[in-house]
Amino acid sequence: MFEDRSKRTELSEIGEFGLIDLISKNTELLNSSTIKGIGDDCAVLDAGHQKVLISTDLLVEGVHFDLTYTPLKHLGYKAVAVNLSDIAAMNAIPQQITVSLALSNRFSIEAVEELYKGIHLACKKHKVDLVGGDTTSSQKGLIISITAIGYASDDQIVYRNGAKEHDLICVSGDLGGAYVGLLSLQQEKSEFVANPDMQPELDGKEYILERQLKPEPRTDIVLELQKLGIKPSAMMDISDGLGSELKHICKQSGVGCTIYEEKIPIFQQTWDIARKFDLDPTTCALNGGEDYELVFTIKQSDYERIKTLNDVHVIGHITNEESGLTLITKNGVSAPIKAQGWDGLK
Ligand code: ADP
Ligand code: MG
Repeated sequence: MFEDRSKRTELSEIGEFGLIDLISKNTELLNSSTIKGIGDDCAVLDAGHQKVLISTDLLVEGVHFDLTYTPLKHLGYKAVAVNLSDIAAMNAIPQQITVSLALSNRFSIEAVEELYKGIHLACKKHKVDLVGGDTTSSQKGLIISITAIGYASDDQIVYRNGAKEHDLICVSGDLGGAYVGLLSLQQEKSEFVANPDMQPELDGKEYILERQLKPEPRTDIVLELQKLGIKPSAMMDISDGLGSELKHICKQSGVGCTIYEEKIPIFQQTWDIARKFDLDPTTCALNGGEDYELVFTIKQSDYERIKTLNDVHVIGHITNEESGLTLITKNGVSAPIKAQGWDGLK
């Protein structure tokens, strides 16, 4: 097409984050109303007395979801939830979404209605209005793109770049469950393909399946922090895995970090099922992704107040840049944090 055929670099050579860096480097911002462009959980736009936050995500069948084990209603719910999560990650509250769909002729009216049942349910639960979108056909499968819009005052917005040495690192909820849930669903699928008469064995896995199929954006944490008068110095939502998100915060803030393995919150069921898969639960928490919890940093002086929140856990602290990213294991050994994250354009 338009590319110079003498030079071809594979996308896999630079990965998703390298690609985004490349796009960002070549993107010029022309309007003073663009406060923050590419590079955080949301773009931030100046709308006079308030700032507008915008985030978009694209979900592709066969890449991000598998309809053999994802009910359409859950898919609709999750597609909305993951976008609202990016608004929460900026310490803001979402209010509108747009939904764009590409559908192949495999999908019936009833299937689309089912998808929208989930979309409407998520909107209702999180008090968000569906205000538009686009619909088109696809040659194969289903593609969903959702844009979420939120609002915040200038001094309320939290970026990835504000973490300071000695700040405490906090995470909400628990981690690793969504990944272990995904592994369980994939295992059931392959067993079903091998033996279609088999009944799925999902008892005792309810929590991790819900973590994978029905994540919730943590807008409740944003509201609790506001109530306590705590403004995080940096924040992200955990979509790729704690290790990857800490890497982003540290890189953008020009700092390092130390976290303690024993402090990473992992639900018992996540732990047990990870072990059944012969996996280290801590690795699932660090690299699993899709938990849509929040990771944020706060000043040490906020410690007494943060302690009052049951669903927030202090897991470590920010260090200087030279110290790098360190995990102190349960045996007291220091290990560099590996951020596996994304490993191919998927
Ligand atoms: P998140 O995981 O929080 O959704 P991403 O890692 O997908 O964030 O994106 C990081 C940043 O890069 C965001 O600011 C996003 O808007 C931007 N971005 C991602 N893909 C593109 C693209 N194709 N063109 C322009 N900006 C992009
Ligand atoms: Mg995000």
